[in-house]
Amino acid sequence: SDRSKSRAKAPSYLTFDDIGGQDRAKRELQEALDFLIRYEDIKRLGIRPLKGILLTGPPGTGKTLMAKAAAHYTNSVFMAASGSEFVEMYVGVGASRIRDLFKEARNRAIKENKESAIVFIDEIDVIGGKRDGGQHREYDQTLNQLLTEMDGIHTSESPRVLIIAATNRKEMLDPALLRPGRFDRHIEVDLPDKKGRMHILNIHAKNKPLAESVNLDSIAQETFHFSGAQLESVMNEAAIYAMREELETIEQRHLSLAVDKVMLGEKTDRESTK
Ligand code: ATP
Repeated sequence: SDRSKSRAKAPSYLTFDDIGGQDRAKRELQEALDFLIRYEDIKRLGIRPLKGILLTGPPGTGKTLMAKAAAHYTNSVFMAASGSEFVEMYVGVGASRIRDLFKEARNRAIKENKESAIVFIDEIDVIGGKRDGGQHREYDQTLNQLLTEMDGIHTSESPRVLIIAATNRKEMLDPALLRPGRFDRHIEVDLPDKKGRMHILNIHAKNKPLAESVNLDSIAQETFHFSGAQLESVMNEAAIYAMREELETIEQRHLSLAVDKVMLGEKTDRESTK
């Protein structure tokens, strides 16, 4: 079966099938990506090229997974960076890092014979926060460089470049980033509903021996407000509980304990950052 094949050799890429829930977000993203793929039609009709997609939503919901799946879907090279990497003590360093990131994306696409590159920038709010005239000069230069790179992208250019950025603080972003021709496509990646949680649990149960009696549905039921990352933790912690007891399979009580642990862990994390 397909499943045994994928178990035998885990692929190095990630597809939309590896992302649980998020049906609407996945559909919207694929629709947007078709603009990258159908560039001949886009050019013919004189449509402005899609340069930037903004993924918004709480931490751990799968924004990075979405960007990786987007790269596979469009047969693009994938380059990832985080906004915090561009925060530097010395003026100009952040901006030159941005320049290098785009240069490297193009070079890699050429070397790997791909027609497009996706540059993923997580935590875009760190460099793309509202400019407040004077205070964060260094961030300004970095943001300006990003805007310059975006404005320099043309449909006729080869390889084509698409920027996907992620944030959980959309309201903090400088309006310059959100203007038409920049990050003008926004996709919300929300916490999963029960069906989504079930899907995510199933994805992360694939490589784990569950006891016959396990009822994942009830776990999906009691994990209201959990993110995908937390659900992944639940499955992982449950496996660790089973191992501690020297058992061959993961049982329901291991899963329940894991739910409590992840829930409690989050609480103490929050308490300690207060
Ligand atoms: P952050 O904003 O904190 O960077 P994110 O939204 O980018 O978070 P990811 O890095 O994509 O989240 O997810 C972290 C991990 O959580 C993934 O590697 C995966 O194991 C799990 N995960 C999160 N969302 C999903 C999902 N929808 N389906 C399956 N696994 C998920």
